Amino acid sequence: MHADIVVLPGDGIGPEIVAATLPVLEAVASRFGHAFSFAEHDIGGIAIDRHGVPLPDATLEAARAADAVLLGAVGGPKWSDPKAKVRPEQGLLAIRKALGLFANLRPVRPHAAALDASPIKAELLAGVDIVVVRELTGGIYFGDKTRSDTDATDLCRYSVAEVERVVRRAAALARQRRGHLTSVDKANVLETSRLWRDVATRVMREEFPDVTLEHQLVDSMAMHLLSKPRAYDVIVTENMFGDILTDEASMLAGSLGLLASASLGDGKVGIYEPIHGSAPDIAGKGIANPYATILSAAMLLRHSLGLEAEAAAIEAAVSAALDARVFTADLAPSGQSVGTTQAAQAVIDRLG
Ligand code: NAD
Repeated sequence: MHADIVVLPGDGIGPEIVAATLPVLEAVASRFGHAFSFAEHDIGGIAIDRHGVPLPDATLEAARAADAVLLGAVGGPKWSDPKAKVRPEQGLLAIRKALGLFANLRPVRPHAAALDASPIKAELLAGVDIVVVRELTGGIYFGDKTRSDTDATDLCRYSVAEVERVVRRAAALARQRRGHLTSVDKANVLETSRLWRDVATRVMREEFPDVTLEHQLVDSMAMHLLSKPRAYDVIVTENMFGDILTDEASMLAGSLGLLASASLGDGKVGIYEPIHGSAPDIAGKGIANPYATILSAAMLLRHSLGLEAEAAAIEAAVSAALDARVFTADLAPSGQSVGTTQAAQAVIDRLG
């Protein structure tokens, strides 16, 4: 197949990890007989420097026309003045919103060779394979806000349609996996959560009778995620709960440098990016871990292009590289480590 992929390297280590990932995609294309074209555009701090805005029109137009978007990271000290009118992160929020990307998927599958990197006991982590699906465009982050000298409010609002579409996304994913969906809310206290629970229950009964549904309160979920992470398959939750739970879940895998993400909507175009930031402390040194970006590229193949075997081939190659202890410095602080390019090459060498 032919696919047009828009590449947004961004700031800090973004250009390094993206540059290391494109040869992996090219190697997959040549092995499986595909043609991927890559068009690079600006987003974040570099876009502010070059165009005065964090999301130039040309970037958004290219993303709308593309099959998928691969993103590095945005931000850095140069653009972090809190009084600045334009900030790199605005570019990210704007592109997700403009493309209607309402579901953020974060797989968490701790790798055997990297178990030591997690603060959680290794025996709890073996076999953990979770995808957290976080609602991305609604809830308290986007509701009306007020502030006076004596108080402040943030409105949390969800519509039936917003809950339906993200539950459907998560349930469809669970159907392709182990067939179990955990819906997380705070239905004992919040009205939006009671709506969430009612809608999730109905959608699952009517459309996904083959997928088991379990409701979990967010406070107990925070506990169970660490005490029995193997019990979960797909977890779906609203925006703020998802923000917090996905960061908690990332600790199961140890390094930020191993965690990929996809932001998806109803169309096929999605944005694929590592969950970490632009790591200004190591930018330009050639030591950033590229695995999270490479695994994000695997998600791109799976979710936007429908290339499951190709995605699985990348994931297996990253696993094999980790098995062979091809570690960047974040995974092997006191041991032997390789640079960004060598780690990516190790993946290419193991693509089979
Ligand atoms: P960060 O994720 O950039 O870095 C946290 C720590 O993890 C640092 O010590 C960094 O060196 C390390 N790290 C991160 N990714 C790594 C990798 N691939 N390999 C090796 N080590 C890695 O978070 P931060 O320091 O809080 O933020 C830095 C900048 O990134 C800020 O401007 C922030 O706003 C931005 N940020 C962007 C995104 C995004 O683009 N989606 C997400 C989070 C933070």
